[in-house]
Amino acid sequence: MSIITSTLGFPRIGPRRELKATLENYWSGKSTAATLLDDARALRAAAWARQHAAGITHIPSNDFSLYDHILDTSTMVGAIPGLYGWSGGAVSLDSYFAMARGTRGRIGGDLPAMEMTKWFDTNYHFMVPEFARDQTFSLSSTKPVDEFLEAKGLGYHTRPVVVGPVTYLLLGKSRDAGLDPLSLLPGLLPVYAEVLRRLAAAGADWVQIDEPALVLDLDEETRQAFRTAYAALAQAAPGIKLLLTTYFGGLGDNLDTALGLPVAGLHLDLTRAPGEIERVIAKAPADLVLSLGLIDGRNVWRADLPALLDRIEPLVARRGADRLILAPSCSLLHAPVDLRQESGLDPDLQSWLAFAAQKVEELTILGRALNEGRGAVAAALDESARAAAARKTSPKIHDPSVRARMIAATPEMSRRQAPFAARRTLQHQRLALPSFPTTTIGSFPQTQEVRKARAANAKGSMSDASYAAYLRQETAAAVHWQEEIGLDVLVHGEFERNDMVQYFGEQLSGYAFTKHGWVQSYGSRYVRPPVIYGDVSRPHPMSVEWSAYAQSLTARPMKGMLTGPVTMLQWSFVRNDQPRADTCRQIALALRDEVVDLEKAGIRIIQVDEPAFREGLPLRKAAWPAYLGWAAECFRLAVSGVRDDTQIHTHMCYSEFNDIIAAIGTMDADVISIETARSKMELLQAFTAYHYPNEIGPGVYDIHAPRLPSVEEMTDLLAKAELTLAAGQIWVNPDCGLKTRTWEEVRPALANMVEAAKRIRAAIR
Ligand code: GLN
Ligand code: ZN
Repeated sequence: MSIITSTLGFPRIGPRRELKATLENYWSGKSTAATLLDDARALRAAAWARQHAAGITHIPSNDFSLYDHILDTSTMVGAIPGLYGWSGGAVSLDSYFAMARGTRGRIGGDLPAMEMTKWFDTNYHFMVPEFARDQTFSLSSTKPVDEFLEAKGLGYHTRPVVVGPVTYLLLGKSRDAGLDPLSLLPGLLPVYAEVLRRLAAAGADWVQIDEPALVLDLDEETRQAFRTAYAALAQAAPGIKLLLTTYFGGLGDNLDTALGLPVAGLHLDLTRAPGEIERVIAKAPADLVLSLGLIDGRNVWRADLPALLDRIEPLVARRGADRLILAPSCSLLHAPVDLRQESGLDPDLQSWLAFAAQKVEELTILGRALNEGRGAVAAALDESARAAAARKTSPKIHDPSVRARMIAATPEMSRRQAPFAARRTLQHQRLALPSFPTTTIGSFPQTQEVRKARAANAKGSMSDASYAAYLRQETAAAVHWQEEIGLDVLVHGEFERNDMVQYFGEQLSGYAFTKHGWVQSYGSRYVRPPVIYGDVSRPHPMSVEWSAYAQSLTARPMKGMLTGPVTMLQWSFVRNDQPRADTCRQIALALRDEVVDLEKAGIRIIQVDEPAFREGLPLRKAAWPAYLGWAAECFRLAVSGVRDDTQIHTHMCYSEFNDIIAAIGTMDADVISIETARSKMELLQAFTAYHYPNEIGPGVYDIHAPRLPSVEEMTDLLAKAELTLAAGQIWVNPDCGLKTRTWEEVRPALANMVEAAKRIRAAIR
């Protein structure tokens, strides 16, 4: 019996972002639904063909989605919120996209999109299911069956993928207070049962049922829901072999629950929880098939295949090849598509990487080594081992001076000299700002013109000198305009930046950028995360020239503007050969040099943005303190090289601070700006309950909406903030940067904001 190789899902976007193009053509009316569906079919066929050609035994189907697989699941079970006007039957393409994107400005009304949130600890966003008290479910899309049959028609026997019922409900939110989504399970199970029966009738044998919720902290009620659900599903379709699929972590204390479920197979993420296999083998029923998630689906690194074989071979000896499946840790959705498209990467770096297509090949090499003996794939194994060995010692990765500096970092380096109260006095003397000082978060509109100039410069049709002159002119105009409307602390506008991580990453050693390394963030929005492959250092100042130039134009304080170490880490593919905390520390040290240089250049206020601080939180609460500890320490390491009268700001634009407020306290930034306008200051509650001692800028201008906030409403928001914070503690600013807005929106909004600050000052006095 030979060992099965599998993948749990392949990227949907196409090697050249074909899905994005066809979706956007359809949305803009340039192409028809038939074209879109044809293109989608071609993308699926290509993904199947590729995996088949590589030699994968269990090829997934229904891993494709036009927008999002959770939205597909809501569509499958008929959980369509009332406002989309659906009255049973098949869900139309336009209703599907209405839920995904809303219908603002398009024919057929003004419907909002459904809410979106991050898929576990990834940067993939799903559409949050919405349930009502009288929620019913009915089979409203047969996509899993259709795509199974589509593959069958092409000659591929696939393993359909569905999101499991318990994870699906847990990810949802309830529109009615007091409604526990899990209570809807009995109504949901018959739909899943029907899907499994239809898959069996269509000829499916294995079905992959994804329950990543099993890696979370679960209460007894949820564990019971798993037992109820799988008892029902096992009965519904006895011909189907369910592969219960978990990823993004270990089962930990849910292991017994998982092993007690009547399923044919269990998939484990052995990259996140390498040790778990021992516990599983010790306890698992003898006939349970174990799917070993050994190839990391969350990163871009090539595996050391001989080392993996050393781990797998004893397992095969103990359990038998027919009880094991080789797999990636999770769906390859989170990896870029194909490394072969890259040109221009350093050849050594290229030899250390593997994207989705390469990970598929790695799996089949492992499979052949086990089935036919290592000799059958000797060359491939050698090459893999050689790359791994080279990576361990390459001077392109290992910079002894960075390592030495990291080791020499003392605890004092992560602490400001004086405590906040003393710093505050010094800063207030030096800056002489009014109460309720006004400022913005950093970026000003990235107009068509700015982007055109950048593109022209990248293409070579605009010289560096004229591009720089153009940026200087934009910056100067922004500075003068800020003075004119009376802002107190100015920004240079970030016109020179393409992206807040890329801009700095491109100037740091240890970072690389791909040309085609796109991964889906949501719907048709893809990102191309930088790759942190080596020790990080700063060969030269990065932002000092721009900040100093902007400061030279005004007597008012000009804020220096940097992206923080945690965000630089979080929004990149991170090297896997050292702890994330170490990589973060290296970035922090590089940024520390920049912070000190900004101070030397006469910058009195430096903002270090950490919008990704919260999303780094591990999935399990037990791991939170360690993460929050090193994350806050890295921030302090980056900013604590300055004098006490230099004011450090940070910025975080999201809404849930309750979980991390104590850690934010330990970051000890002199000022933090946060997003509170959208929630009408409700989010401030975490700060007031915690008695946050430092200064805070609660956002008063919701920059996500195109509407103009009035003086009155912003004054009211400030008055509201003043009820719970001390007047001397409050700054006046928007929720976030303004790069996505137009000048026509920004000008009157900021003028109103300055006026609101004046009114509140007068009222308080
Ligand atoms: N300084 C950045 C800006 O204004 C912050 C962006 C962010 O918080 N995501 O654009
Ligand atoms: Zn922000």
